[in-house]
Amino acid sequence: MVFSERLSAPSTGSPNLSGTRPFRVIIVGAGVGGLVMSHALTRAKIDHVVLEKGVVAPQWGASISIWANGARILQQLGCWEAIRAACQPLQMLYVRDASGISYSAEPYFDMMTEMNGFEYVTLERRKFLKILQEQHPDPQKIWEGKKVIEVLDTGTNILAKLDDGTVEEGDMLIGCDGVHSTVRELMWRNANVAVPNLITTREKTSLETTYRALVGVAKPILGMGTNDMHWITHWGMSFLILTQPNETFFFVNWKLPQKSTWPSKAKWNEAEAEIAAASVAHLPITDSVVTPNLALGAMCAMESSVVLVNKIKNMVDNLGSEQRPSKDSIRDMLLEFQAERMNRQQEASRASAFLTRLHAYDGFLKWLIMRWIIPTVGQARIAHIMGDFCSRAPRISFLPVDYVRKAAYKWQDEPDHVPAQPENSIMRQKGRLLASEILQPASIFAMGLILYVMSATFFKHYVIPTVVIALPKDELLGETSR
Ligand SMILES: Cc1cc2nc3c(=O)[nH]c(=O)nc-3n(C[C@H](O)[C@H](O)[C@H](O)COP(=O)(O)OP(=O)(O)OC[C@H]3O[C@@H](n4cnc5c(N)ncnc54)[C@H](O)[C@@H]3O)c2cc1C
Repeated sequence: MVFSERLSAPSTGSPNLSGTRPFRVIIVGAGVGGLVMSHALTRAKIDHVVLEKGVVAPQWGASISIWANGARILQQLGCWEAIRAACQPLQMLYVRDASGISYSAEPYFDMMTEMNGFEYVTLERRKFLKILQEQHPDPQKIWEGKKVIEVLDTGTNILAKLDDGTVEEGDMLIGCDGVHSTVRELMWRNANVAVPNLITTREKTSLETTYRALVGVAKPILGMGTNDMHWITHWGMSFLILTQPNETFFFVNWKLPQKSTWPSKAKWNEAEAEIAAASVAHLPITDSVVTPNLALGAMCAMESSVVLVNKIKNMVDNLGSEQRPSKDSIRDMLLEFQAERMNRQQEASRASAFLTRLHAYDGFLKWLIMRWIIPTVGQARIAHIMGDFCSRAPRISFLPVDYVRKAAYKWQDEPDHVPAQPENSIMRQKGRLLASEILQPASIFAMGLILYVMSATFFKHYVIPTVVIALPKDELLGETSR
């Protein structure tokens, strides 16, 4: 998400179109972040427009999975019911080796429901975006077929120029136009015109692409369940499969031979995608037949959108006699926003990157953790980590939440929320809750034991034979004859 705050291009000399209009926000992009922001701004009664270059719910995109941090926001916006009705909450998580054999299978997503009180759901991305569009309290705010090609700061207004020759005017422009953001590029350019070398190449290339994914939707596959997730782990690549009664979503992640950075988009062309698909078509995904790994990107986009809307609303509510906030107060508000979001965003990015590397056994330690330590300590440990992460998520400050289920983790921003284990809790039934509390030292011990066994095996099978082979033949013979 990028903002007009850093725009400081010289004035275009455009006439001041603003007149006496109210404070107005321009959102570029009607993807996950843009739609959630527009819902929240509408509820906050703040004037805005969403400019989308294509259609709101395009054909591409496979699935989207929703954790409790996103579900709570969607419930506040009145979209959760429709999303829940459109899919089956996930239940089991199977972790499989390269031959498709499962080495860890637990009702992980039932545990997650107990952690934060919201079910973990997966649905077709297109269906998800369509629901956000249909449930919008004022869908007229979303304009399709409006591509932003230029952004200018006149000093008093922000102007967005569109490819159809029209211009939109506002006080703030928010780029929700995805990972390859045009708005971000225009801001970089404008910032460097105003202050040469302000945005360095180092900053522009700081976002690295290390993995590439092939995604798709297929018909249901026999033996894969109707609402489960499967991680199939390999060296250097992994499969992620999500099932629903009528479709199977799949992701194949590869480690790139070398990292790529802006301006490269590391996208497949059609022929490359065909070759990549053919190269894995023979690999088993279960023992019977046949990264976006952590699925947090859209959740973070939603979190950022609602934190920003909370701050915009606060700023507008405290306007006093002015009709619109000054440029300085907008800048201060954005700096505050950035400071507040930075750590959490980095935490999510680090966790996602780590899981992708675990799935692809990126090094001996990651293989050890994925193949042995996680199955040993149990998926409940991961459920606790994610339960804690979700419980620290932000929500829309000016809309209520209807907490339907009990949750093991207290929502940190709810002073009156009382954490409680649901009756017949899976965590209790499995003895996991207690176990994982006291298991901390035990898991460290297990880890040590595994390391010891591994290194002993390694020495016995690889190091000792290598030393023996490396010894001169007669020395070896002598050694044996002694
Ligand atoms: C295959 C895949 C699966 C994923 N699965 C999950 C998941 O399960 N859970 C999860 O949390 N995250 C997931 N993510 C990550 C998530 O999709 C992104 O983090 C999220 O979509 C980012 O939201 P956004 O609003 O910033 O951008 P996007 O959702 O990408 O939306 C950007 C929008 O901007 C529009 N646009 C672009 N340029 C312009 C322009 N110049 N003018 C006007 N409009 C423009 C685009 O058409 C698009 O509609 C997944 C990502 C991928 C690639």
